[in-house]
Amino acid sequence: MSFSELGICPEILEAIEVLGFETPSPIQERAIPPALNGADILGLSHTGSGKTLAFSIPALESIDPAVRAVQVLCLAPTRELAVQICREVDKLALFLDGVSAVPIYGGASFGPQLAALKRGVQFVVGTPGRVIDLMEQGELKVDHISMLILDEADEMLDMGFQEDIERVVALLPEERQTLLFSATMSPAIRKLVDMVAGEPLEIEIERPQLTVPTCEQCVYEVVFSSRIEVLSRLIEMGRMKRGLVFANTKRVVDDIVDGLLARGYAVDRLHGDMPQTLRERVMDSFRKGNLTVLVATDIAARGLDIDDVDTVVNFELPRDPEDYVHRIGRTARAGRKGRAVSFIGRRDFSLLARLERFVGVRMQREKVMTGAQVEDVRRESLVDEILEKATMAVELPDELRDIDMPAEQLLAAMFNLLVAKTSRELQPIPEDRPSKFTRTSRSVADEAAPVEKGNDWSSLQQSVTLFMNGGKLLGLRPKDIAGLFYNEGGAPKGSVGDIRLFLKHSLIEVTPEIAPQLIERLGTCHICGYEVNIREDKGRPEGGSAPFEREYRPRERERRGATYSGRGNTGFRREREERGGSRGRRDSRERGVERGERVFYDKFSRRPRRRD
Ligand code: AMP
Repeated sequence: MSFSELGICPEILEAIEVLGFETPSPIQERAIPPALNGADILGLSHTGSGKTLAFSIPALESIDPAVRAVQVLCLAPTRELAVQICREVDKLALFLDGVSAVPIYGGASFGPQLAALKRGVQFVVGTPGRVIDLMEQGELKVDHISMLILDEADEMLDMGFQEDIERVVALLPEERQTLLFSATMSPAIRKLVDMVAGEPLEIEIERPQLTVPTCEQCVYEVVFSSRIEVLSRLIEMGRMKRGLVFANTKRVVDDIVDGLLARGYAVDRLHGDMPQTLRERVMDSFRKGNLTVLVATDIAARGLDIDDVDTVVNFELPRDPEDYVHRIGRTARAGRKGRAVSFIGRRDFSLLARLERFVGVRMQREKVMTGAQVEDVRRESLVDEILEKATMAVELPDELRDIDMPAEQLLAAMFNLLVAKTSRELQPIPEDRPSKFTRTSRSVADEAAPVEKGNDWSSLQQSVTLFMNGGKLLGLRPKDIAGLFYNEGGAPKGSVGDIRLFLKHSLIEVTPEIAPQLIERLGTCHICGYEVNIREDKGRPEGGSAPFEREYRPRERERRGATYSGRGNTGFRREREERGGSRGRRDSRERGVERGERVFYDKFSRRPRRRD
């Protein structure tokens, strides 16, 4: 079947041609014609099935370009998805004059989003929290909305958006078409469908098995500079007899090969610039087992057809989930067992979440093996090798016959010699030190009554508590914080647990893996129009000050290079009196308070304030 048989208008068909799509995917083939006829649809299809096109095409066709008002509202769980949908809509609308789409999500300033609404944008793709805020403020007008799309509805429910979705739906005109897409079916989805769409046409697309169960998929968090050492440790531990390592660029491929060659491993490279004859020679050498490791880019590895690769290493994560599937498909072939190891950095968490959603598998988080662990494994495998040799009939060499020494002593000396000869000196890496993000920290959180409980969070053994210097006084609600963490912070679903709101601060529990990314991305950020800081909570020291005070003291100390131990704000008052009330800018030393005095600054106005 071709796109032209689906009843799509010529302008969009032309855009599809420009995009280079030749045949419709199953969900497009089955959903587009009825949706164009006005049917409500429940599409059970996964990411990567082409569902965005399946709903965007009927949505664009339902828009009247002459009407400068929102006509299609699409709700999506994350800001990334909202932006991605808008990009596809814009491409499809290339030849539709006067039709445009805008993404609307929380954590970003209202200005550009309001401007787009005022310009008369017709297609809004938004995250539920921000959409309901704009609707309730009367900025997003609903009277012309004739189509509601819910994308990744299961994801939205998992992220706690049910109440927001219900509020949005309650404000929409009843006379409308609804297209709802979800990767999974559950009673909660059924309830949502009943509420938003009545009895839609159900279309289910079977999810293809993208990876095989015999392939164990795991992840190591490793800084880039440590990766060659970690790769070497994998080889040292005997976990990689024939490994394929993938990098995204030729330059990184060269760096890996140089690093491994310098450490003495049998390794070669495969990248696009190499002449065909050389590539074939390298592949042949790998096939024959002369190489322990072959390092390649995605494109160069296309022609590689080898069945018994035991480990695939993603030295860098591929941007495209399909490349990930192709890469790891080189191991665990023909019923064999295999391992896919991915190295990730702090910025890769949302990409990892996307990959996991795409393949439908949660990858095992593993800790980088320490030097001592590598040493233990290495010694154990030497013993195994010795025992294996010993099962064969071996004769005592003549040179050892006349030695008058206990066999045990001799054996121990030989073993130590062997260990020394076969050992590669390990290089220390930052990952050898224990991570501060893997501890359990519930102490402060336990003191307060929880405002909102996460789903199954109580069963979580390890969590990190993050501190945010904004709370009830700013009018914050747990869902604002959850929205910020999921949308702005890129937290994968389920990674945010208890959110406890206090007057001036909040404590948020998150999984250890996501904590570094959240601190990095959200360190200083905006929530509901206020600037706040987010960092790891250090807990309240015994008999120490309240969290709010803790927040101010270190920062002031840092700014002034002074130690505070006294009470009251007499320093600032005195200073102002001395200056005759001047409010001009002064350098920090002038402005500084003498040692032993303490000044508190109002968090949001940045002005000093009294503390009695
Ligand atoms: P989606 O499931 O909407 O996230 O789409 C997954 C990917 O498939 C996107 O990169 C689309 O651009 C692409 N895609 C969508 N429809 C087609 C098609 N008919 N042929 C080829 N690629 C497609």
